[in-house]
Amino acid sequence: MSKFRRILTYILDLGVNPKRQPLDEEDLKLAAYLIDLGLTIPAGCTGRIQPCDVGIFGSFKKVVKTLTNYAQLTNSNYKFQTRDETLKLLSLVWRQLCSPKLEKWARYAWVAAGYDVPRPASFETPAQLLFPRGVAGDCTMHGCSSTSFVKCLYCEKIFCFEHFVIDHHNC
Ligand SMILES: [Zn+2]
Ligand SMILES: [Zn+2]
Repeated sequence: MSKFRRILTYILDLGVNPKRQPLDEEDLKLAAYLIDLGLTIPAGCTGRIQPCDVGIFGSFKKVVKTLTNYAQLTNSNYKFQTRDETLKLLSLVWRQLCSPKLEKWARYAWVAAGYDVPRPASFETPAQLLFPRGVAGDCTMHGCSSTSFVKCLYCEKIFCFEHFVIDHHNC
């Protein structure tokens, strides 16, 4: 299977199998490439890919944007544009988006794209779960005095930028 097919298959599978393992190093590079392209889907390829365009990529980008905006405001030394940091950031976000808590959200992408599949009951989006109201507080990490801004979808603890993004939280 080509690299491109592998990553698209991976993304498409998220809707039916959100518990898949996070991306490996090679898939991550391709994911970074897709982000570089602005996640635009070429004309004529919309068929199967459209659910991702409608539902998955939009939310993925929103979370990445929230993190990078926050970095610009609070951690100006953090160079997220470097290749390594970009890949780490994408990997981090991807793992969060694979959380079973987002299964309904991932399924909804198919409904939003007009597929005749059952509509999931109400659900929360990745951004709503990761950056809930009232998330600002004391970072979970012992001895850290920074303000938390994100809640991990797996351990449900709240973290500051350094302990979530820079330390690549992987509970
Ligand atoms: Zn965690
Ligand atoms: Zn912290």
